[in-house]
Amino acid sequence: MLNNRKLKKNYISNSHLNNSEEFKLKKPSWIRVKAPISSGYLSTKELISKAKLNTVCESASCPNIGECWSKGHATVMILGDVCTRKCGFCNVKSGSPNEIDFFEPYRLAKAISKLNLRHVVITSVDRDDLEDGGANQFVKSIQAIKKLTPNITIEVLTPDFQRKEGALEKIIKAKPDVFNHNLETISRLYKKVRRGASYEHSLNILKNAKDLSSTIFTKSGIMVGLGEKIEEIEILLHDLRLAKVDFVTIGQYMQPTKGHLSVEKYLTIEEFNKIENLAYKMGFLLVSASPLTRSSYHADDDFHKLKMAREKLINV
Ligand code: SF4
Repeated sequence: MLNNRKLKKNYISNSHLNNSEEFKLKKPSWIRVKAPISSGYLSTKELISKAKLNTVCESASCPNIGECWSKGHATVMILGDVCTRKCGFCNVKSGSPNEIDFFEPYRLAKAISKLNLRHVVITSVDRDDLEDGGANQFVKSIQAIKKLTPNITIEVLTPDFQRKEGALEKIIKAKPDVFNHNLETISRLYKKVRRGASYEHSLNILKNAKDLSSTIFTKSGIMVGLGEKIEEIEILLHDLRLAKVDFVTIGQYMQPTKGHLSVEKYLTIEEFNKIENLAYKMGFLLVSASPLTRSSYHADDDFHKLKMAREKLINV
């Protein structure tokens, strides 16, 4: 669990997060991130760029890029870099989507095989324009990675596949180790934060994933600081447990540009600890709650913690 002292020691700078734009609230002193300057960061950048892959790390201006990429942990975003939705919090481009790149799964698998990873996270933009919502490209990517790197564990972070019949079933059949779909925020804020999405549908997709495979790990994440109340977070956590979700991630929302939703509040480390304790009491196998927690942050270590937590539960 992070505390203020540990954060100060591990995270050296937030200078690359600051820009000249005026935001409603100033970033607090407890949010410190590693500057993207290490040789590991640069070699991951080169590999991703040579393979012509998109990453959510870059597209969403993730604050953890310096730390994650220094270890070769990049989250590749398949199906192009243009999203068919326009969520108020998200920095990924939106508009008319790219053509499907049929070679993308193979370039992705080749790049992953060079990164020497134990665990990989694959995500995508929303592709409401495609009949299957992009499910086939997920399946091909999973298959190509398994073929080139058979021992790697695979986590998919998917869109909600609204009105895309059979999409979830296809993905679960390809046997990823973790199925992740983010609720992003509490029910009341959906219209403002996730226009075009449905809180109930997102809960259902998580529940259905577990119903389709009792051995898969399910995971979901939210951002805080958008105006939600603690009681509303409590209801959301309860809903996730009813959907049998194993792992929940909770991180601070950070406004990427002036045109995005404002941060209403920066939660303190103590408040994150309180939410983490609350979630553990509800029975999640794993909870990650800190200002810099993101869906794929420390996903490798967390996958091993998840496995251990399940084994412990089975052996009780
Ligand atoms: S937390 Fe996830 S999105 Fe952010 S840099 Fe790390 S791997 Fe990329």
